[in-house]
Amino acid sequence: MQQWFVDFAERIDDGDPTYLACEECGQAALPPRTVCPECSSRTLEERSLSETATVTASTKIFSSIPEYADETPYIVVIATFDEGVRLTGQLRGAEGIEPGETVTVGVEEREDGWLVTFSPTD
Ligand SMILES: [Zn+2]
Repeated sequence: MQQWFVDFAERIDDGDPTYLACEECGQAALPPRTVCPECSSRTLEERSLSETATVTASTKIFSSIPEYADETPYIVVIATFDEGVRLTGQLRGAEGIEPGETVTVGVEEREDGWLVTFSPTD
């Protein structure tokens, strides 16, 4: 597990997620990098990330890598934050979810590291 992701997950766990954004054009840079992927500016700053995101896609997983085998079937959600940051996580608290629905981001600490989770807001 990469260090930036561990740091990112710990800040979600603290309720204060942040990400890097370009000061020039506002493009989100997550995973963090030193140069803006959009305009090549080197002036990136840390900004707060909203705790809710909009579902872009979801997929039900029936078979998985051994670490997750006893959790199948589970639902993987791709969600996009207002800031443009896109994350993948496991759905919690619902049997299914549709694109366009709003979810709250969370994390679970596991033996193999952090897992991003999304829960419906209602
Ligand atoms: Zn930029």
